[in-house]
Amino acid sequence: MIVTGGSRGIGAATARLGAQRGYAVCVNYRSDRPAAEKLAKEIGGIAVAADVSHEDDVIRLFNETERSLGRITALVNNAGVVDLRSRVEDMSVERLQRMFAVNVIGSFLCAREAVKRMSKRHGGQGGAIVNLSSAAARLGSPGDYVDYAASKGAIDTFTVGLAKEVAADGIRVNAVRPGVIHTGIHAQSGDPGRVARIAESAPLKRGGQPEEVARAILWLLSDEASYTTGSFIDVTGGR
Ligand code: NAP
Repeated sequence: MIVTGGSRGIGAATARLGAQRGYAVCVNYRSDRPAAEKLAKEIGGIAVAADVSHEDDVIRLFNETERSLGRITALVNNAGVVDLRSRVEDMSVERLQRMFAVNVIGSFLCAREAVKRMSKRHGGQGGAIVNLSSAAARLGSPGDYVDYAASKGAIDTFTVGLAKEVAADGIRVNAVRPGVIHTGIHAQSGDPGRVARIAESAPLKRGGQPEEVARAILWLLSDEASYTTGSFIDVTGGR
């Protein structure tokens, strides 16, 4: 299994649970090498640095993982970024390019490399992909980060389209749409108190834990979900 952005947050929880369920796990990361290597050691996997928005990095990530761990059967497209709270009229082109490069193109590149290796059309034995979308794709995140929400809207459409395209090749593709989860991502938007501030507005009256998202991801990857493709699980506390 490859988990992109596995050094912390939802990705780290998914890598841990994946290892518990018997996967040999590659923990991909961009910058936090100590965290990724510590986790990989703890779960008996490997850590591979790669920026998912760089094509060469992604190809190397998949090649190194196959060399070390064998055939790739599961991909979790988890790496993602937000940016500072902003209205659309104040967004720079550099910000928009980074947002879409990491969240959208990064997911496409990783899925492309996974499909080439998993697809029965190319001599593979099938597999499963889970994309990390967000409740923001439905809500639009006005005043916070409409660009982020739109990048996750693209992930939803990507999930539906790719699922239909590769179903006959033995690959299932689904997505999880988390709500507000206790991770470090909110500090990136300059709003580290976000979870505490808006958690109460969820019907379940709290923010989610990364492990609660990881369980949905692992279910979608598993044979328990054998007839589920092109689907979404909202892990939002009811929001
Ligand atoms: P996080 O705690 O900020 O962790 C992000 C991870 O992605 C880190 O491991 C980071 O690695 C990695 N990363 C960032 N840019 C990368 C790149 N270009 N290439 C490779 N790795 C990269 O995030 P999170 O909250 O766990 O979120 C995980 C996913 O869930 C994201 O797609 C996010 O949009 C989605 N999500 C989160 C929430 C939430 O409330 N937390 C809600 C809805 C959806 P380094 O630290 O090494 O740079």
